[in-house]
Amino acid sequence: MDIEVNYKNKKRYKTAKYPLHQTKFWTYLIYFLSRCALIGKDYKVECIGMDELKPPYMLLSNHMHFIDFELAAMGTHPHPVSNVVSIDGYVIKFFLLEWIGAIATRKFTTDIHLVKSIRKVLQRGDILAMYPEARYSPCGTTAFLPDSLGKLIKMNKVPVVAVVHHGNHLYAPFWNFKAKKKVPLHTTMTKILTPEQIEAMSVAEINAVLKDALQYDDYRYQKERGIKITETFRAEGLHKVLYQCPHCKKEFEMDSQGSHLFCKACGKRWEWQEDGYLRALEGETEFDHIPDWFDWQRQQVKEEIARGEYHFEDEVEVFSLPRVLRYIPLGKAKLTHDPENGFRLEGFYRDAKYFIQRQPAQTNSLHVEYDFVPLKGRDCVDISTENDSFYCCLTKSNRITKLGFATEELYLLSQNGGK
Ligand SMILES: [Zn+2]
Repeated sequence: MDIEVNYKNKKRYKTAKYPLHQTKFWTYLIYFLSRCALIGKDYKVECIGMDELKPPYMLLSNHMHFIDFELAAMGTHPHPVSNVVSIDGYVIKFFLLEWIGAIATRKFTTDIHLVKSIRKVLQRGDILAMYPEARYSPCGTTAFLPDSLGKLIKMNKVPVVAVVHHGNHLYAPFWNFKAKKKVPLHTTMTKILTPEQIEAMSVAEINAVLKDALQYDDYRYQKERGIKITETFRAEGLHKVLYQCPHCKKEFEMDSQGSHLFCKACGKRWEWQEDGYLRALEGETEFDHIPDWFDWQRQQVKEEIARGEYHFEDEVEVFSLPRVLRYIPLGKAKLTHDPENGFRLEGFYRDAKYFIQRQPAQTNSLHVEYDFVPLKGRDCVDISTENDSFYCCLTKSNRITKLGFATEELYLLSQNGGK
């Protein structure tokens, strides 16, 4: 059983409320500001099968960077849009998000009211926009998509539009947002399901259509388009997602500088070439395609779990968000993650113990942040409950990508009865 934090102020930010309707003023202002933000960028928003489409509809998009919102606004204008937004987006600017009709949620929790808010937006005749991966893509490829999406679509029976951004990850990769690169951006907005099709399809069939429509691979996009990324700093930060050396198999010894990625344990180096592909400076190039290296690591985690060897433990510094005015520093705590118990966070605040547990079946993925600006640019994971969120900054370096893999694999095991 969880033991809640002994806050002086017991109030919580209420996520269980209906969003406001976005007024024309905000719709036009968002469009105008998004247009301004996109000035000077090479971008194209292509609408496919959307000529006759009028709201209400659901817009499901992949997620790579804040620029996703600006590009989506080009395709949805002049109709009001309610976006589902994570609670950390509300810090300080919560009134603004409420005015524009956003829906707040705590990531990877069972948020029953979220379903009601979505229905409300669609019943009003507006556009509901969601980023179902619920996190920025770590590697420019499709992240975990929950099967609950199919049920949500079946329940609402409105048209579904898939938005796939290409190039946004290359422009500003999640593992190094600061180092932006010159990359042409191409967004497709495609009507993938009509109410009639939804009516005739099973939830599993809807999920299959959705997963197919939301497939993307930014590195393949780069190769197919012949895009050259010539910035000399292009590989800096890449070791955050490629944390295991495929040569000596050591974990967390990878680092990056300039256009190079290297292993501090065995000294092997790779160059991230201008065409987006990797090349070992000496010997075999184990993976030239970055997502293949990323997926290989997932497989290693899966095997470690199967061997019964997976366990994580660290001292973390915790910042919580019971409300949204500021992050509350809770000091040091112990975070563990293992197949039997999932996440366990144990600490003290105002002379009282608190304990938070999320079982593997309770969380299908993990919210991670690389160089999280609100918390002094540190790597952190967010363990959320239904009424609080704990941002845990790790002491051990470069562990969060692996924690994400382990969370997803343990969830899948919990769903398949351990098979
Ligand atoms: Zn190595």
